[in-house]
Amino acid sequence: MVTTTKKKRYLEASDIKDKARGNWMYLFSTLTGIGNAADNFNGNGSSSGSANARSACPVHGGVSNKAFYFFNDANETGAGGCNSCGVHSDFGLIMWANGWEYRRTLEAVADALDIDESERKRTYKPKPQEQIKPRELTAAELEKNLNLKNKMSQQWREAYPLNKGKAKPARLYFKQRGLGDIGLLGGEVRLHPGIKYWVEDKDCKFGYKCLGTFPCIISTVRNKDGEPTTLHYTYITKDGKKADVPC
Ligand SMILES: [Zn+2]
Repeated sequence: MVTTTKKKRYLEASDIKDKARGNWMYLFSTLTGIGNAADNFNGNGSSSGSANARSACPVHGGVSNKAFYFFNDANETGAGGCNSCGVHSDFGLIMWANGWEYRRTLEAVADALDIDESERKRTYKPKPQEQIKPRELTAAELEKNLNLKNKMSQQWREAYPLNKGKAKPARLYFKQRGLGDIGLLGGEVRLHPGIKYWVEDKDCKFGYKCLGTFPCIISTVRNKDGEPTTLHYTYITKDGKKADVPC
C-alpha cells in the first residue's frame, strides 16, 4: 500500500485504468459488496452476462441474490449490470455499487493496485478528467438499458399519485408502517394498480415464472446530485400489506 499523505495525491485516471485492466475482479472483490460475484467469475457465460458470477444487486437487492451479473469480458473491461439498474463499467461500476464519488473511487483503486504517485508523475502527463471516457456500451447493452428505461417510464406514467382514490393500497401500507398523513411524498412515490412479479425458473418457458400481479409502490431513486437514476418497486396487497414475494 502507498502511504497516504494529507496533501491531495495526483492521480491519473487513464493510468489507473490501464493497470486495472485484467484486475477488475480482484478490485471488485476487494472494494465492493459484489465480491461474491467477482470471486465466482471465470469469464464463461452468455453475451448477456456470466451465469456463474452473480450476486444481489448492490443498489436495489433483487430476487435470489442473482440480480447483478458480470459480462464475459468483465475482468478486462470492468463491465457488469443489474436487470433493474442497467449496465455499468470500471470506475462507474464501483461508484454505483458503493455510492462513492469519483475521487474516492480513484484513490481506492490506486491503493488496491499499489500505484505510486511519483512514478506516475514521471511517466505520464496530466490530462483533464473530461478526456477519460468509460468503456462504450455495445448496441445490445444500450438497447437493454433503453428498454428497461422505457418500461419503467411507462409503469411510472400508469401509476397514480398517492392522493388519488386508486392509490389507497399505498396509503394503507404507509399507515400500517406508522406514517399517517403522507401527502404526495414530494411526488416521488406513486402506486401502480398491478405489476406482474417474475422470478427465474429454469423449468418454465423463457426461464421465468410469474408469481402473480400485485399493486406496486414505485419510488424514484436519485443519486447524490439529485438526478433520478432508477425506480424502486415495493409489491404490496390491496389492503396494504407486503406482498408474499421474495423482495
Ligand atoms: Zn439493481
